[in-house]
Amino acid sequence: MVATGSGSGKAYYVTTPIYYVNDAPHLGHAYTTVAGDVLTRWHRQRGERVWFLTGTDEHGQKVLRTAEANGVSPQEWCDRLVEEAWKPLWRHLEIAHDDFIRTTEQRHTDRVREFVQDLYDKGEIYQGGYEGPYCVGCEEYKLPGELIAGEGEYAGRQLCPIHKRPVEILKEENYFFKLSEYGDRLLAHYEAHPEFIQPESARNEVVNFVRQGLQDLSISRSTFDWGVPVPWDDRHVIYVWVDALLNYATAAGYNQNQDTFESRFPADVHLIGKDILRFHAVIWPALLMANGLRLPGRVVANGWLLVGGEKMSKSNLTGISPRDITSHFGVDAFRWYLLRAIAYGQDGSFSWEDLAARYTSELANDYGNLASRVAAMVGRYFDGVLPEATADGGAEQAVQDALAKTVADADRKIGDDVDFQAGIVAIFDFVKQVNGYISEQEPWKVAKDGSPEGRARLATILYTAAESLRAVAVLLNPFMPESSQRLWESLGAEPGLGALADQRVQDAGEWGRLPAGSVITKGAILFPRLEDRPGA
Ligand SMILES: [Zn+2]
Repeated sequence: MVATGSGSGKAYYVTTPIYYVNDAPHLGHAYTTVAGDVLTRWHRQRGERVWFLTGTDEHGQKVLRTAEANGVSPQEWCDRLVEEAWKPLWRHLEIAHDDFIRTTEQRHTDRVREFVQDLYDKGEIYQGGYEGPYCVGCEEYKLPGELIAGEGEYAGRQLCPIHKRPVEILKEENYFFKLSEYGDRLLAHYEAHPEFIQPESARNEVVNFVRQGLQDLSISRSTFDWGVPVPWDDRHVIYVWVDALLNYATAAGYNQNQDTFESRFPADVHLIGKDILRFHAVIWPALLMANGLRLPGRVVANGWLLVGGEKMSKSNLTGISPRDITSHFGVDAFRWYLLRAIAYGQDGSFSWEDLAARYTSELANDYGNLASRVAAMVGRYFDGVLPEATADGGAEQAVQDALAKTVADADRKIGDDVDFQAGIVAIFDFVKQVNGYISEQEPWKVAKDGSPEGRARLATILYTAAESLRAVAVLLNPFMPESSQRLWESLGAEPGLGALADQRVQDAGEWGRLPAGSVITKGAILFPRLEDRPGA
């Protein structure tokens, strides 16, 4: 899928981190990537031009060591994982990225060299020596005060606080970026743009960190060669994090096509995990300032994903594979669940029990049953042809008002605030309200009244329910494209309204869009009971 929409001006540009390819993707990667996909699909349905970028981070010592341990070259290792694991999973999860950047591609490495050469020419980079504790897992020098004392097999050694593994003492003659000179400008930017780092806890952490004073950043390595050579000194490769962060510029057309670049860059939202917050909220904006480029709109960090109490991150790859979940619950439920269950930005837990419970109560019972019942009743009482509503009363007005409010709330929460959970809750509260409306109106009783007034009431109730579902399909499409499309087809909406993907969020609350006369069919159940699912 490609970005749609037309017109000039900058695209709404969303990124995921580019992921290390030292192993196959896990639940944590899928969480952030689905979030980016939902966010960009939402903005596409606002009619905006959108550009969604993901990719892989293929350089550095960690990838090199993993490849060596598997007896292949690092390039072979990366090629195999990207083609056999990463890209297929994103296709499976219906991720509609507009580009997939790999940091070993020449379109990236050439531009990285130009960017760094530019900084060197501007006097932002100097040669110096450094010795300090280094975590290969983080690919980062640590401050002595950050380390924790080892126990057990690591007794007497100093450990990385994130990886809980011993650090190595690294001594290098390196090139340094004058990061220490950017503290005041960064603090001024955080102050002037309170939305720049989200959530609030992440913002506070970064502000406190920068206030303590920044050290210059070593931006080259000479102890291994799996990386982009420093343009003026090929005994060094560029530090993998500088290489990686620049993907957000190189993929957008930096130094390649100025018009394209300006139509995308900078990102409106960088979605990240909070373990890589400082790279995105401190180093990345400082690099952009140093090179005279505009800063991104927001850096939004999601929390730790816990599975059975264990953190899932790039350091803990023993977690559940996303396919374990989709094979049992389907892709749509997977996409919906993590954004529904966890407030974005907070730590949260994955649990099979909670997923099964929410699937049953919210997707199968509240939502799926509503769709089935409405289609069945239109079939039984009106031969599958949606009747006209001619007898609206107070109950119908209440549904219409609730829908208008739901659309406004969901659009603000999802589209503006990147608060997926609140948006989903708003949409499902509306679904519950429509269920309540049907229970109160009791169309199966009204159907027994064969008078013209009775028929008019019955038609109005069923039109109200079907028209509500039309709006729900539009609002849930960014989260659950497969089931939303089936609902759209079941409502017979396409002949009158066009393709679901072309429906505007802003129009979803406009009452009466689904034309009377639409042919409603009872398709397959949207969310079968878990015991009826294939593979259950
Ligand atoms: Zn570490």
